Amino acid sequence: MKTSERNNIFRRIPKVDQFLARPAVSDWIRRAGRDFVVSRVQRLLDDVRDGIRRDPDGAAEAVGMEALERMLSERLQAGLVPGLRAVINATGVILHTNLGRAPLSASAQKSLSELSGQYGNLEYDISQGRRSQRDKTIQPLLEELLGCEAATVVNNNAAAVFMILNTLAQGREVIVSRGELVEIGGSFRIPDVMAQSGAILREVGATNKTHLSDYENAVTPDTAMILRVHPSNFRMQGFTARPGVAELAELARSRGITLAEDIGSGCIIDLRPYGIADEPRVRESVNSGVDIICFSGDKLLGGPQAGIIAGAEKFIASIRKNPLMRAFRVDKLVYGALQSTLESYRMGKALEEIPVLRMISMPRDVIARSARNFARRLRAVLPGNARVSVCAGDSVIGGGSCPECVLPTMLVALESDAARPSLVESRLRSGAPPVVIRIEDNRSIIDLRSVFPEQEPVLIDALCRALL
Ligand SMILES: *Cc1c(COP(=O)(O)O)cnc(C)c1O
Repeated sequence: MKTSERNNIFRRIPKVDQFLARPAVSDWIRRAGRDFVVSRVQRLLDDVRDGIRRDPDGAAEAVGMEALERMLSERLQAGLVPGLRAVINATGVILHTNLGRAPLSASAQKSLSELSGQYGNLEYDISQGRRSQRDKTIQPLLEELLGCEAATVVNNNAAAVFMILNTLAQGREVIVSRGELVEIGGSFRIPDVMAQSGAILREVGATNKTHLSDYENAVTPDTAMILRVHPSNFRMQGFTARPGVAELAELARSRGITLAEDIGSGCIIDLRPYGIADEPRVRESVNSGVDIICFSGDKLLGGPQAGIIAGAEKFIASIRKNPLMRAFRVDKLVYGALQSTLESYRMGKALEEIPVLRMISMPRDVIARSARNFARRLRAVLPGNARVSVCAGDSVIGGGSCPECVLPTMLVALESDAARPSLVESRLRSGAPPVVIRIEDNRSIIDLRSVFPEQEPVLIDALCRALL
């Protein structure tokens, strides 16, 4: 193509003002704001010019006003979809870290909506009419539920471990079993957190076995703490051993050092009847004589993202005084959601009210009934070339908790002559709302355990569209 012809094509590209005068574009300006639309028009025209430079023949048709307006609409539409959205989790993974872990209870949601648009007594003592501490409002609940002297709340459990080490062991030695130098979800590794905190790691024992004597022999005048870590996301089997918490507590007491435990998940009630065997319970740990424990708010506890630190008053007081607390503290929304979640436990209603616990404790026959019911409703509306069946399978806890626990469930399996499972999966993902599913044995799999009943009609619609 000659230069003159190419310049001709460039001249045919509409100007920004011509765009803005079009009725459809004015509509967009009213909906999405002038600056947003103008910037998208400019970007579109830049892209068209680049396209012509790369491929003058191919791009020539794209410069007509109609085609450009269509492209602009698509881009504006896509640009208005919020980055963070609610999704339907049909994977059966209850604490899906990528999907934001624990969904909150109705009362936690209510507390968020009340507190978010109003002022709250976050750091204000209502009875005295003066400044107070952030933790004061939640302290009585935590003390009562956890059986501890004092407690404080930080951004997440990683921050909790860091604050414990930084406050109570900076510049001194912390003894950890080699079997507990764990990595949780990529960026959290006990040795790395330890190094950042300024505490000095003193590894003891072997990967599979650590004895009480290993700890005993490692204690020196430089030892500040023994740290015990729950290996949340893996299990060691076979020739393994580690001392019990009570033995470690006895050793720590006799040598005048602190025993801290990162229990990970924040399991407050006994979940063994539901197949969750290996999770340490907060109260057991506190009663066994651990000086200070920490755990996540959004794992088995079922609350908002938070790290809860509980233990002896003097330790909690020092942690609160650490200047880094300012960087790790949480806002009134987290306190509000956590408070409501803990109230469900106090009233003995955790299994009914907290979604994570409701999902975990849902018996298989209840899920089986929902799955058959769902399959029947789906069959009634699905295109003829799709097949629905119900089969046995497993749900998992996820979120780096209970790797060995599988909860027997009933799955809804879908096959379609028109769409491969990978296509069904990607269509569901890009829908509104996005739906996340699993693919197993070349079938699209729905596990209703992690789907809220009120989402089912929307899910049925989404499946119909995806299976066409
Ligand atoms: C999950 C977990 C963490 C990290 O907790 P976050 O709340 O994700 O920061 C730390 N330690 C253990 C043992 C865990 O299970």
